[in-house]
Amino acid sequence: MNEFELIRRYFQRPARRAAVRLGIGDDGALLQPDGAQELVICSDTLIAGRHFPAETPSGAIGYKALAVNLSDLAAMGAEPLAFLLNLSLPEADETFLEGFAAGLFELADRYDVDLIGGDTTRGELAITVTALGQVPAGQALRRDGARAGDVLGVVGTLGGAAQALALGDAAPAALRARLDRPEPQVAAGLALRGLATSAIDVSDGLAADLGQVLTASNCGATVDARRLPVDPLLADLPAARQLELALRGGDDYALCVSVPADRLAAVREALGERWQEMGAIEPAPGLRLRGADGKVEPLATGGYRHF
Ligand code: ADP
Ligand code: MG
Repeated sequence: MNEFELIRRYFQRPARRAAVRLGIGDDGALLQPDGAQELVICSDTLIAGRHFPAETPSGAIGYKALAVNLSDLAAMGAEPLAFLLNLSLPEADETFLEGFAAGLFELADRYDVDLIGGDTTRGELAITVTALGQVPAGQALRRDGARAGDVLGVVGTLGGAAQALALGDAAPAALRARLDRPEPQVAAGLALRGLATSAIDVSDGLAADLGQVLTASNCGATVDARRLPVDPLLADLPAARQLELALRGGDDYALCVSVPADRLAAVREALGERWQEMGAIEPAPGLRLRGADGKVEPLATGGYRHF
């Protein structure tokens, strides 16, 4: 199977969305966002052995390659439209490709996004997805908009993916799914347009990702250990381990969001149970943790660094 057959067999499908004027097959794709919308573009690479264990089922790899990008769109408040897929494969393995495409399109169909192009080469297993979305001009949820006095909240749960990674093959299936099939918080991102002052998706751990918001927004925050939305699947673990997973565990793709006090009621109404308030933005720089004993201590924001 050469790469043109491979693309036709596994990746070429009729477009779902009117915005896609031309998809796979030409030198470039044509995408027409709605008028008065800004295009939101994000890209993430997954490398075997670094971003997922080498023995991960191919369906989970396909799913996750798109999920992490839809999560970035969600964190911008964007409506997903389409994506590109750059694949580096050691070989054209049909079993791998069937599973990969099934996982990928399971999520693509759920969020109504079209695969409109990409590139296919031989090499170490690596997947880059570039996702495109749209947001009404000026309404994107950025990292630099948090202000002292805002309430901090999380959409989604924390710590499950990191515990699944730590347990490896011993992880029960429900926990393993937190790592392999995270749910991007797309609907919440859309609902938070016009309400949130900042948003970031938690990929490196809450402390690290919130640290990015604080730096970009020139402010600080205190987070309340008792109010963190720890994944219910971790309920049997010691409290200290739950806290560490919730603060440092990556890969959960929850949204960490700041909201001005006068918009809190609207956010609670829009998100219901999915919304968990857990802290406050403050003028003093740095991140602090209020522990179960009520004591406030500084909290390091360092996360995983490739370099
Ligand atoms: P070119 O020679 O113009 O770079 P390619 O041979 O790389 O074109 O790809 C042919 C077509 O298939 C292009 O439209 C490209 O976007 C698309 N394509 C290539 N690889 C993938 C892929 N992995 N997924 C989706 N579309 C792909
Ligand atoms: Mg090419």
